[in-house]
Amino acid sequence: MWSRLREVFARELVVLVDPTHALHARRRKQLTASVATVFTLGMAAAMGVAPSTAYDDPDAPRVLESMRLPDLRDQLDQLTDTSATYVRQERMQRGDTIAALLKRLGVDDPDAQEFIRKNSTARGLFKLEPGQTVQAEIDQSNLLVSLQANLGGDVSSSRELVIERVGDVTNPRFKARVQTVDNELHYQMGSGVIGPGGFFKAMDAANVPDDVVEQMISIFSGVIDFHHDIVKGDRFRIVYESGYRDGAFVRNGRVVAIELINRGQLHQALWYSANGSNGAYYTFDGRSMKRPFLRSPVEFSRMSSGFGLRNHPLHHEWSQHKGVDFAAPTGTKVFATGDGEVQFLGRQNGYGNIIVLRHHNGYSTYYAHLSRFATIKQGQQVSQGQLIGYVGSTGWATGPHLHYEFRHNDVPQNPLSITLMESPALTGRARQQFLSYSGELMSRINALRTYNVASNGN
Ligand SMILES: [Zn+2]
Repeated sequence: MWSRLREVFARELVVLVDPTHALHARRRKQLTASVATVFTLGMAAAMGVAPSTAYDDPDAPRVLESMRLPDLRDQLDQLTDTSATYVRQERMQRGDTIAALLKRLGVDDPDAQEFIRKNSTARGLFKLEPGQTVQAEIDQSNLLVSLQANLGGDVSSSRELVIERVGDVTNPRFKARVQTVDNELHYQMGSGVIGPGGFFKAMDAANVPDDVVEQMISIFSGVIDFHHDIVKGDRFRIVYESGYRDGAFVRNGRVVAIELINRGQLHQALWYSANGSNGAYYTFDGRSMKRPFLRSPVEFSRMSSGFGLRNHPLHHEWSQHKGVDFAAPTGTKVFATGDGEVQFLGRQNGYGNIIVLRHHNGYSTYYAHLSRFATIKQGQQVSQGQLIGYVGSTGWATGPHLHYEFRHNDVPQNPLSITLMESPALTGRARQQFLSYSGELMSRINALRTYNVASNGN
């Protein structure tokens, strides 16, 4: 309960400190209004209490002032007003039926229930997942006046189901519609240290959701090989967007900023979209995070993390057989590390099922021992990160792993050296704009940091 309250406070503070937030102006007004109320009440109390000595002294100056008491007539009227309605909100629970949900909402209305069962739009209520919220407005006889349910959506907007009573009590009729409404965007923050349990354990401990973890891996895929580079003691801090509707979580959005200290080296990435162009991730000093080649051709997942730690790709291993082995379970996804063309796809003696990609500037990459290929053909263009096949142990392989080669003008290179390829940085006016944007965002995140520490209690 208290942690929920803290969460709400932290969220509200974020809205208040962020002048660009959609709700900022409204919350400020509300805050000012409640402060004004406190002042008014305080003044009334001050006027009502006079020092008792004043009454004892007949010559003391008398000031007669009327006390301002709240006018309660409206409230009294409402208590007896039969048209007053009540609003209640509930969450869908696992194994819930519509009847059970309506009962929890305080709705006792067979006509409404019948309508929800039969109307195709209203039946959207049956597709709600556990945790989704439903709001009902009922009258004094527990009859349904209106009902709202969030049917999900993307991070910035929600689809909302609205059911309303349109007929009167003697002739109850209902209408259902689905409307698109804007979500409130919040920044969420997570931070932690990689412990002995590994990367995913640390993400779970910091409550970073899986879809956000996936983004994090992808953002750093040009500079970090999560299979081999991440070590105990590495630290991370991540800020991402979440969409809320009426205070209820709808969906996570994009990672806005992220810091990762890997083996003592600081990596930072920031989402930036220059003048309405397609956005991309940049380092804090304005270098693009996109590199010509990924650091690892093998999907890093819960399944493949921690698999085959013995096969650490050491330099001598590379020099012995001109490639790097990535141990991973059979079926693990294999990605094209760079944009290119499928030069060869088929079976070769020791390599088993192999794909060769040809890239720009004389570079080529080899992916061997595959269990099977993705739906790609020889001669086809593939893009960086595209699924091309699956890990296996075809050819001369003692266990499931990917044998990966990286060649320049057909001469094998150490794939671990490809981080040396720097990407171009923003220059001139674009760089100035980026720096002012990143500076502002960073100061907002620094403010967030304080609240986050307070709300996590650690
Ligand atoms: Zn190998």
